[in-house]
Amino acid sequence: MKKIETVAEMQRGCAALRAAGRTIALVVTGGSIHEGHLALIRAAREKAEVVVVSLFPNPLQFGASEGFAHYPRTTEADVARCEEAGVDLVFLPAQEEMYPRTFSTFVTEETISKRLCGISRPTHFRGVTTVMVKLINIVRPDVLVMGQKDAQQVAVMRKVIADLNMGVEVVKVPIVRDADGLACHVRNATLTPSGRKEAQAISQSLVRAQEMAASGVRSTDRIIAEVTHILAQQRRVRVIYVAIVDRTTMETVREVVPGEALLMIAAWLDEVRLTDNALL
Ligand code: AMP
Repeated sequence: MKKIETVAEMQRGCAALRAAGRTIALVVTGGSIHEGHLALIRAAREKAEVVVVSLFPNPLQFGASEGFAHYPRTTEADVARCEEAGVDLVFLPAQEEMYPRTFSTFVTEETISKRLCGISRPTHFRGVTTVMVKLINIVRPDVLVMGQKDAQQVAVMRKVIADLNMGVEVVKVPIVRDADGLACHVRNATLTPSGRKEAQAISQSLVRAQEMAASGVRSTDRIIAEVTHILAQQRRVRVIYVAIVDRTTMETVREVVPGEALLMIAAWLDEVRLTDNALL
């Protein structure tokens, strides 16, 4: 595995691979590699001959009060886990390498990204789309591998790629969960044991909603009421939103269309912002 820190070297390396006819899959991460990321890397290996993983905590996608300075950084362990997982190139650019002082160009998607998380995190998706488009331009992958965990991010990136004719295939990997049902996430480690127990209500409410949809319930109001009831029993879970949306547009829907409707939850548990979702 090769470790690369500069944009120029990454561009040269990927251009040479493409010239040699190799297909490339890109996995974009903020580092702190966990089981969710490893599932993306496995999918990437199945999809292309060369796997590139970026380990870059992206300051642009954090709001002013969202604690970017405290985002965990475990670079050495991340590199070791990538090597073990069969990654070919890891990209570890410094912040100034990605955003030099003169940086002044941003990519914004203006419909899907305004919904759900876009309401409480108004600059988040602009940061995501800008860094993603930069990384795609640097690597020029055939395939971009993303996690269903961030379903809105996937919907936004699919739209950006289509609107800007970028010609990259997006592969979406199912959510990886710990044994207690909690979706793997960098910040889970900061939950207290009792907080973690309360957080389980989120995945439990998703399972309940899936059961309701499977038994024929089509009213999204009824499902949202049940989910809200389950979450409300945990005093420390503070709901940011519970919504049932079309999985492509992220627009709220009144009726469940099986396989198309996505139940989306965002909630605070103490100081940790948790998101989760399930297809109904
Ligand atoms: P992050 O490092 O949190 O920005 O995530 C990088 C990529 O990993 C994104 O495409 C996420 O959707 C994906 N990811 C994070 N957690 C999970 C998970 N529990 N299951 C599946 N994919 C995940």
